[in-house]
Amino acid sequence: MANMVAKAVMGVLEKMFSSAEVVAVRKWKPGTMVEIELHIPGVDVGEWKSIKRLKTKVGECEYRDYTPADWDAERSVCTMYIETGHEGTGGNWGNNVKTGDEVLYGPAHATVLPAKPGRILGLGDGSALGHFLALKKLTDRKDYPIDVAIFLADDYVLPKNLVSENPEFEFITDAYGDAFEALAASAERRDLSLYTSIYIAGNSGMVRELKKMLRYRDEVSARFYGAEFWK
Ligand SMILES: Cc1cc2nc3c(=O)[nH]c(=O)nc-3n(C[C@H](O)[C@H](O)[C@H](O)COP(=O)(O)OP(=O)(O)OC[C@H]3O[C@@H](n4cnc5c(N)ncnc54)[C@H](O)[C@@H]3O)c2cc1C
Repeated sequence: MANMVAKAVMGVLEKMFSSAEVVAVRKWKPGTMVEIELHIPGVDVGEWKSIKRLKTKVGECEYRDYTPADWDAERSVCTMYIETGHEGTGGNWGNNVKTGDEVLYGPAHATVLPAKPGRILGLGDGSALGHFLALKKLTDRKDYPIDVAIFLADDYVLPKNLVSENPEFEFITDAYGDAFEALAASAERRDLSLYTSIYIAGNSGMVRELKKMLRYRDEVSARFYGAEFWK
């Protein structure tokens, strides 16, 4: 009975979804970070003024949120970065998606932009790469200088254009490392008094622990923006 009710609710939810077409799929070597380009006609991406999420159908009655990292208003295309190196419905979907596939999705707001101009620090794991690329795209460097550290849990060969176009990003790749420890060490190397806003995103435990560690430091006066993506 509960199952039938859940299915009915999902049916209503899906009626509000739109249809997108996968126009490109790129896998970083060794293969577990997947870049997906979606054609999303009818969405005025030029109007996006906050970090978005696309609630995406990844299986029967299964939905996951993914972050548009970049978008092109003229072509109505956006790009998402999906971590697939774990066993999960979303990860399996990301691993198997192909150019030409139809995807059902609903766009929604995810995270606000900084309340005040000033330097931003971003700390996140691979699931939050899109989150920080979107934050960079939505803020201008004159008023919002940005530094970002991303922990990637695989020994990826990073796309050359991603690295060259984002000199503000420190990419820490370590298949045996721990996101909290790597990002905490990256934060320790910085002058935290410089930041007006600190964004932390990715695994829930990591986000909470980093926030706890940084928030009450004497030199920190930044406002915190946490985004917990997965448990
Ligand atoms: C607002 C928002 C935006 C998001 N944007 C993105 C995005 O751009 N890219 C992205 O990859 N994810 C993003 N996520 C997370 C995404 O929605 C899923 O939660 C994630 O893909 C895991 O779903 P799953 O079905 O694969 O695994 P689940 O069924 O949720 O989990 C299965 C197992 O895998 C583990 N697991 C889940 N995710 C990871 C991971 N990334 N690395 C290692 N182990 C993991 C879990 O701990 C669990 O043990 C976002 C979440 C939110 C709320």
